[in-house]
Amino acid sequence: MRIARFSIDGNVAFGAIEGEKQDELVLDIIKGIPFADFELSGTKVPLSKVRLLPPVLPNKVVAFGRNYGEHARELGNEVPDTPFAFFKPSTSVIGPGDEIQYPSFSEELHHEAELAVVIGRMCREVPRERVKDVIFGYTCANDITARDVQKREKQWARAKGFDTSCPLGPWVETDLDAGDLTIQLTVNGRQRQLGRTSEMIHSVEDLIVNISEAMTLLPGDVILTGTPAGVGPLNVGDEVAVTIEGIGTLTNKVVKRG
Ligand code: MG
Repeated sequence: MRIARFSIDGNVAFGAIEGEKQDELVLDIIKGIPFADFELSGTKVPLSKVRLLPPVLPNKVVAFGRNYGEHARELGNEVPDTPFAFFKPSTSVIGPGDEIQYPSFSEELHHEAELAVVIGRMCREVPRERVKDVIFGYTCANDITARDVQKREKQWARAKGFDTSCPLGPWVETDLDAGDLTIQLTVNGRQRQLGRTSEMIHSVEDLIVNISEAMTLLPGDVILTGTPAGVGPLNVGDEVAVTIEGIGTLTNKVVKRG
């Protein structure tokens, strides 16, 4: 099931997307929130009539770095033996179609297409065989990075945590085996990144075992799983799109911070 969060006439709701053709999709409005047992209301609205919002409002976004060997090497980094994580704050999250604001303190903004895992239930110390039970679904993410700041500053809070640096969407796909999906990114229609989720060094299961060993994960929390090779610069005016097989396409435009 594809679950979107959206606004219509000033109200915010979740809905299940029905239909196949892009211009004929409708949302069946969900009663309540989708993390518990929920019911579909039967009230349907065309997707074209709503504004899609970030599909979840995470308490935290935990992002893993250097999880595709070729990407680690393209930036001159060693491939780590164990997963390593950093945070992107909840205030960095934007939705599909929202603007990425080029920060004033950077001159080298990069895109990073990533598979995002959405957590469905409160959990801690999740054993490998229970990981599937805590995953709500998957969406697309772009781990927007001020690469020059990342190189300059020891901690990445500013480089990867500034406002608008975490586009998520367009919706959450709940029925998906994410083990071997094509992940690609285009800038102004030209392909920059192409990989498969099977190229991850540490699998989704590894990452959730690793992070839940340290902290409680909450419903709606998001785990970013690393980016394949091909990262590169974004400029003001660019349109950047992340497409993951079986999920959809997340598109955002880069603007100057006003
Ligand atoms: Mg990344």
